[in-house]
Amino acid sequence: MNKFYITTPIYYVNSRPHIGHAYTTVAADILARYYRLKFGNENVWFLTGTDEHGAKIAQAAEKEGKEPLVFADEVSGEYREVWKTLNIANDDFIRTTEERHETIASELLAKLKNSKTPKGNDVLYKDKYEGLYCIGCESYKKDEDLVDGKCPDHGTEPQFLSEENWYFRLSDFGDVVLEQIKSDKIKIAPEGRKKEVLSFIEHGLEDVAISRQNLKWGIPLPFDNEQVAYVWIEALMNYISALGYPKDEKFKKFWPANTQLLGKDILKFHCVIWPAMLTALEIELPQELFVHGYFTIDGKKMSKTLGNVIDPIDLVDEFGSDAARYLIVSQFQFGNDGDVKADEFITKYNSDLANGVGNLVNRVLVMTDKYCGGKVPDKKYNADLDLKNVWQVIDKNYSEYKLYENISQIMEVIRFCDSYIDETKPWSLDKEGKQDEIDQIIYNLLEIIRNLAQLLKPYLPEAGEKILTYLNQSEFSSDAIEVGSKIEKGEPLFLRKDVKAE
Ligand SMILES: [Zn+2]
Repeated sequence: MNKFYITTPIYYVNSRPHIGHAYTTVAADILARYYRLKFGNENVWFLTGTDEHGAKIAQAAEKEGKEPLVFADEVSGEYREVWKTLNIANDDFIRTTEERHETIASELLAKLKNSKTPKGNDVLYKDKYEGLYCIGCESYKKDEDLVDGKCPDHGTEPQFLSEENWYFRLSDFGDVVLEQIKSDKIKIAPEGRKKEVLSFIEHGLEDVAISRQNLKWGIPLPFDNEQVAYVWIEALMNYISALGYPKDEKFKKFWPANTQLLGKDILKFHCVIWPAMLTALEIELPQELFVHGYFTIDGKKMSKTLGNVIDPIDLVDEFGSDAARYLIVSQFQFGNDGDVKADEFITKYNSDLANGVGNLVNRVLVMTDKYCGGKVPDKKYNADLDLKNVWQVIDKNYSEYKLYENISQIMEVIRFCDSYIDETKPWSLDKEGKQDEIDQIIYNLLEIIRNLAQLLKPYLPEAGEKILTYLNQSEFSSDAIEVGSKIEKGEPLFLRKDVKAE
């Protein structure tokens, strides 16, 4: 069956939504929208959400004098608000504090407790831990992880912990997971990330703690009421709890996930622990994990101190939601590290959207009105641009997450039209009374623009929809544009912005 289940990581509510979260979520939305066009709405499921437990959240809430859930409610609400503003069409939004998640996570933990490793040992065992713990990382630290006694990521001294924890016997899963990844049973992309994970596993896996003692803000272990589940472990379970594992029709239809997107900072959890856990639970593995890179803003690391953190809402306020989405994903190849050129947002907006898409659509609609009485002329498509081929390239690119390359493809279509108009000069043909030639040119342009609208829709849902409306198409069909149907002149899609405002 052709179905598509895509997930973003669930975002940890200790930080407010910024352009980094928006980047992953917009990318997922573009993929989901494309596959809805391809497979139908009912065959696509796009999940995002928020990760809300753990010591770090309890601490952040306390700092603001709030109950952890009140704090989580607020930040989780901000995420949903930002996604609405960016026109993200997720099918579900899971919060790990919801009962549906807590119930299923608890069942899964109980199931893990009764499971055996590939080597026949108990998957979970209890052991004493004495050592250092960084709340910022929500993880245990060894001396060699620290720089001058401090966590290099957080600049804080870790706490000394002495507690009994439940451990997941990850060390018993190394061979199995290595084979799963090598054989692409679970595909890790891009290739460089796959190599990184393989080498990590080849160096030997250590068991990981899956519970915390003396912490209230978490899901209690069903088999030990003095312990709560370690936040990362239960958070991973969201991808199946949201589908109503194991009985729901949704789970049966959509699992295994086709694509799970993640940032490279959570590589180990998703590419090692997650497959091991699913193997222990005898649940199918996701088909693919796609790891994207980090980015800098105008060449600098994004940080509060530098004041270069981009709030997606500001971007929408300035450019509108379509353009904000576009500016976020059009910067560099998805999967690589790259630089977001915030300095050039206006230039890019003007060149690609106002002068590119917007100007072309406007020109064609105005010419249709002027030279063809606002109706689709009676012709058949015969331009040099092979539309079927364009769609094939686009489709292949999507299957490889080439969102950036698809933007180039779309811009190529726009450039083709611009030169076609400049070369054929319908205004001169009009003066010479060559109506038949004009009709052919306008017909070709209208048909290309109709396809362009559909090509743009995953990236620019509003503009794509508007173009189809101007063309009097309630829905895109594989048939060519209908002869004789009425065309609207419409409004400009993107108004030019003053560069000086930058
Ligand atoms: Zn840390």
